[in-house]
Amino acid sequence: MINPMQLTAELSEVKNYIDGKFERSSQQSMDVLSPLDGSKISSLPLSTTQDVDDAVQAAKRAFPKWSGMTIKERVQIFFRYRSLLEKHMDELTKLVQLENGKTYGEAKAEVDKSMELCEFACSMPQIVVNEVQEVSKGVECRIERKPLGVVASITPFNFPNMVPNWTIPNALVLGNTMVMKPSELVPLSTVRMAELLKEAGLPDGVFNLVNGGKEVVEAICDHPGIKAVSFVGSTKVAKIVYKRATSNLKRCVALGGAKNHLLVLPDANPEMTASNVIASMSGCAGQRCMAASVMVGVDNIQHIIDLMVEDAKKITPGKNLGSVISAEAKKRIEGYISEAEANGARVLLDGRNAIVPGKENGFYVGPTILDHVTLDMSVAREEIFGPVISIIRAKDLDEAIAIENGSNYGNAASVFTESGGLAKQVMEQASAGMIGVNIGVPVPREPFSFGGWNESKFGVSDITGRSSIEFWTQNKKTTTKWNPEAQTNWMS
Ligand code: NAD
Repeated sequence: MINPMQLTAELSEVKNYIDGKFERSSQQSMDVLSPLDGSKISSLPLSTTQDVDDAVQAAKRAFPKWSGMTIKERVQIFFRYRSLLEKHMDELTKLVQLENGKTYGEAKAEVDKSMELCEFACSMPQIVVNEVQEVSKGVECRIERKPLGVVASITPFNFPNMVPNWTIPNALVLGNTMVMKPSELVPLSTVRMAELLKEAGLPDGVFNLVNGGKEVVEAICDHPGIKAVSFVGSTKVAKIVYKRATSNLKRCVALGGAKNHLLVLPDANPEMTASNVIASMSGCAGQRCMAASVMVGVDNIQHIIDLMVEDAKKITPGKNLGSVISAEAKKRIEGYISEAEANGARVLLDGRNAIVPGKENGFYVGPTILDHVTLDMSVAREEIFGPVISIIRAKDLDEAIAIENGSNYGNAASVFTESGGLAKQVMEQASAGMIGVNIGVPVPREPFSFGGWNESKFGVSDITGRSSIEFWTQNKKTTTKWNPEAQTNWMS
């Protein structure tokens, strides 16, 4: 674990990173706490519209040269950036732990994933090959993918290293320059990314960081110099950002919250299913947009629930379960559990009032299993974002699918069964963007893209993988005729 006293000057007082320089103008600031023990680890500036404008101007100045480089040249910098992520793996992992509260293994998996995201971006020269065809004798049509200009990326607290890397490598390799606004709760990892990008050789102004809250997000949505906005966070804010950015005529993809359903059939492999459900609901303390939140048990699955309780009892806050992000988050999660209990849910395992010895001021919630949850309860419908699974009992698969389809969200859904036919029915009928079969966290890996349906995503393309290439570029269509004798017709 990093001792906060060992943080560099750039980390112990977070600054904005504009045009290759860390700077802090005189403005209001807020404390950054470590959720592990509630202690203050840093502070960050609450930046203003002026700071956003400064960053956009720097990104605008850097754009002509950066976009004028070949994609093969831009990729070289991201090969080096990927190597630096690997070189600094332990430090970056500990930084995620310190500011987000995950376990070491979970935080390391995040940095590993960032490397994979870079590897995909580094493969872009092989994927983004332009098209050319002789359409009439001597006349050629060509389509080239061109960058948009200055783009923005707004990120949430739950993956301080990975989610920024969903957008940085792809958008930049494709020739855009960027203004990023990380979550004010976890600003440290992106500071280190800015340093490593510079060390990798990224020219000044190509990547800029503006720290703060709502005011920064609003200024990004309104700034006429920003061409596209990507957002990852809650559905409430995704809606605000999508509406505001698109009403200002920007391209936008806004990923929102989730309420993922795992459909468990009686023929499912009991041990594998139980361990997958528990790992999905408790990993990263349930603060994953891909986490299991509702388990719909079809017919008699009591034997699987019994195994789940046994598995979950082996999870101990502060040991193999990290903290949740804040005191407010802990209060909200425990409030959901209490409300469900008061409304008749059976609490099979209770994670309320978890205390970790030596870290009494940390924000911990133990794994919680609620059974006999009914659709009228808020735990059945709302995103809890904590290590809580709500079990709803269904008489058959049709009813289970109808419950899944009834959710406003649609990030992920999984089915656990040994039957290919029943799995296929869920694959076809579940109303979610990412489907799993016998997998608790069905995250598509590169080059497949990441993005949900319904109120889990607003906008057309996904945020990663091949789909992100559409989002970060526009097509230029050129028709050429060099030979005066070339065939002519009414179109050319
Ligand atoms: P959040 O929506 O509170 O914050 C996200 C970003 O929006 C932050 O940078 C924050 O500063 C900014 N913001 C907050 N309130 C705002 C407002 N009123 N106006 C403008 N900007 C505002 O989300 P969070 O709590 O940081 O992250 C957790 C949420 O993110 C969960 O709902 C989770 O499901 C979701 N999430 C979704 C995905 C996905 O891929 N769909 C991935 C990760 C997280």
